Amino acid sequence: MTGRTPRSGEPGGASSRRARKRPSSAALPDLGQYGRLAEYDRKRHFGVTPEPAAKMGTREPGRPLEFVVQKHRAGHLHYDFRLEHRGLMLSWAIPKGPSPDPVVKRLAMEVEPHPLDYNQFEGVIPEGEYGGGTVMIWDKGVWAPATKNGLGDEGEADRQLAKGDLKFVLLGEKLAGSWVLVRTRRERQWLLIKHRDQYASEDDLTITRPLSAVSGRTMAEIARAAGASPRQLEQAAQADPPARHVSADTARRKAPPRGGR
Ligand code: MN
Repeated sequence: MTGRTPRSGEPGGASSRRARKRPSSAALPDLGQYGRLAEYDRKRHFGVTPEPAAKMGTREPGRPLEFVVQKHRAGHLHYDFRLEHRGLMLSWAIPKGPSPDPVVKRLAMEVEPHPLDYNQFEGVIPEGEYGGGTVMIWDKGVWAPATKNGLGDEGEADRQLAKGDLKFVLLGEKLAGSWVLVRTRRERQWLLIKHRDQYASEDDLTITRPLSAVSGRTMAEIARAAGASPRQLEQAAQADPPARHVSADTARRKAPPRGGR
């Protein structure tokens, strides 16, 4: 691995030992000038990383809530699942990525909230920085909390998050339909599960739809364009599926939109 000293807040860092003493229901700390983005801010050096600074977002009334899934080859490959809520992006790291198959439960580790501006970030975090490696915008779209009778508001999302049982709908390019995030008894561990509906499928979308939702690029192409180190470039290339899947996703992208004129 990298051989560098773990920073505060990373697995193995000093704060993870302290964090174990916190009760499992503890909310993220809400301290400092950056509020709930303080942890995001503290982990990063903005003179070095191209990631956006900690800044709360604003939302015009009626604008739908954003979601994004970022494929991230850091120390390990994972998919960062982010839901806009009250001016920031609530975030979970999913080692195996989301599955549209209702029988598959995917572990989702709650991580620090990210700024809304992060939804546009696709590139490379330099070696030695927190989360160093290649980031792809794998999917993006809009989301809403779900109730028995339809869609809920932010207050509904607050109540369901507090219960550890957030039901929601996604409308993205790869992920869609009804889903749930369920908190487990373990600190910060949730499960992401697809509900049965017309968008459920047994496809492994991480293999069949491997390209960026915004640029159509592979991980290797993103790494190369951002001037990644040789080691990061090799790791990014290893995170891409075999070429035949890439060409199938490329062909889909170039096909004319269905239902168009
Ligand atoms: Mn990540």
